[in-house]
Amino acid sequence: GEGSVNPSFELSEDPSFWKDHNVQVIIRIRPLSTSEISLQGNSKCVRQDSFQTITWSGHPESRFTFDLVADENVSQETLFKLSGVAMVDNCMGGYNSCMFAYGQTGSGKTHTMLGDIDGGTGRHGVNCGMTPRVFEYLFSRIQKEKEARREEKLKFTCKCSFLEIYNEQILDLLDPSSTNLQIREDTKKGVYVDNLTEVEVTRARDVIQQLVQGSTNRKVAATNMNHASSRSHSVFTCIIESKWEAQGVTHHRFARLNLVDLAGSERLNKVKRRQKSSGAEGERLKEATNINKSLSTLGLVIMNLVNISNGKSLHVPYRDSKLTFLLQDSLGGNSKTIIIANISPSSCCALETLSTLKFAQRAKFIRNHAIVNEDASGDVLAMRMQIQQLKKEVSRLR
Ligand code: ADP
Ligand code: MG
Repeated sequence: GEGSVNPSFELSEDPSFWKDHNVQVIIRIRPLSTSEISLQGNSKCVRQDSFQTITWSGHPESRFTFDLVADENVSQETLFKLSGVAMVDNCMGGYNSCMFAYGQTGSGKTHTMLGDIDGGTGRHGVNCGMTPRVFEYLFSRIQKEKEARREEKLKFTCKCSFLEIYNEQILDLLDPSSTNLQIREDTKKGVYVDNLTEVEVTRARDVIQQLVQGSTNRKVAATNMNHASSRSHSVFTCIIESKWEAQGVTHHRFARLNLVDLAGSERLNKVKRRQKSSGAEGERLKEATNINKSLSTLGLVIMNLVNISNGKSLHVPYRDSKLTFLLQDSLGGNSKTIIIANISPSSCCALETLSTLKFAQRAKFIRNHAIVNEDASGDVLAMRMQIQQLKKEVSRLR
């Protein structure tokens, strides 16, 4: 039927895919699970109308438009081709890039970002997710560029880090003995996490090793701290630096790539719904904040950014949570950002699915301002960062 439109040709070959909007929002519908089928049969709460539109079939019926709606027939590989490839190309061009997976627990966030990975061989199967594919492609592009630009002495350095935010504390997933790390801001370095382990990687296999190690540590930490990992956010970051010589000048370019697996959105939504039905919405922020400050602040940051783009002057509370402070550039800042909002199509998840579609709809209106992080004379980059810093301060004062 209409739901089987194959989006891969419509978008991947369109060079303007990224040009105008620096925030891309993709909906990913996972297949019905066996337990959902046994509870509700094949009854679904959404239907895909085209490769960009989806209808929530509750009351009232609501239709949403996104950059892409990927149904259960869209494979890991196709999703990567439609989003990950452009993201890597942007990083190679010196743009900061960020991908978020949003959605309720069980909707497919980790399947999307990580999928099935095999740390032993570094080779991947059909269920391998976004992150390993991104790095395989990144290193193949690096290799090709280096060969093509040998006379420019092109060099790349890639450094990875992997952290978790749980209960507003930052844990180093590559060194789990390192807990409660602090975020710092510096005019030269931008926003960074003090004392976070950085591992230099030279091939996809190195990255997969770190991913496997970090994911294992994440599970152990969750057990030790007595929480489900569905309540924590994980952030995998790679800083890609390149250097080359042209006409006697050394050029320097860098880009930051963030891959984020967010905490499940359901607990926050439950609080919001309860308060809405009891009319106690004023209390919303306080209680929701206690549930997961980073997730509730993310929602608020997005809401304010949208209102600002509609002409209102508002304060954006980036600093109110660890997640938004760390990723402020990816939200209304210097970054190209992709949000993958994962949903279950089952009728049992209708309310959560609607909340996710609404969140994703709001995120669609964020306007980022991405610039190439390049420095030819040695001073331009520092000046740019200073300008950015000043702009931020000015907007804070407003
Ligand atoms: P989350 O990280 O959002 O809690 P998971 O990624 O763990 O959810 O997904 C829950 C279950 O659904 C897993 O067993 C996963 O393999 C399966 N799943 C999720 N998305 C898909 C998909 N697109 N295709 C097939 N299986 C999926
Ligand atoms: Mg998960």
